[in-house]
Amino acid sequence: MRERIHEKKKTKDCLICFSSKNVGIHLQDFFICSDCEKKMVNAGVDDPHYLVYVHRLRRVRESLTQNKEGEVPK
Ligand SMILES: [Zn+2]
Repeated sequence: MRERIHEKKKTKDCLICFSSKNVGIHLQDFFICSDCEKKMVNAGVDDPHYLVYVHRLRRVRESLTQNKEGEVPK
């Protein structure tokens, strides 16, 4: 079986570090690069960056919870 995959390698701006990366996770309109994903996973509450992550991720969570049908916020 042949799969047709037309995947363009697009870079996206990471929500956390604002760098353009093409490897990471997508949360609806948001993108978190794999580096930041690892950092977040390993970040403890003592980590000064932890609050930054939490703050930025709050936007994602708000976006997810306010998900309205038929309306795509841009
Ligand atoms: Zn990042």
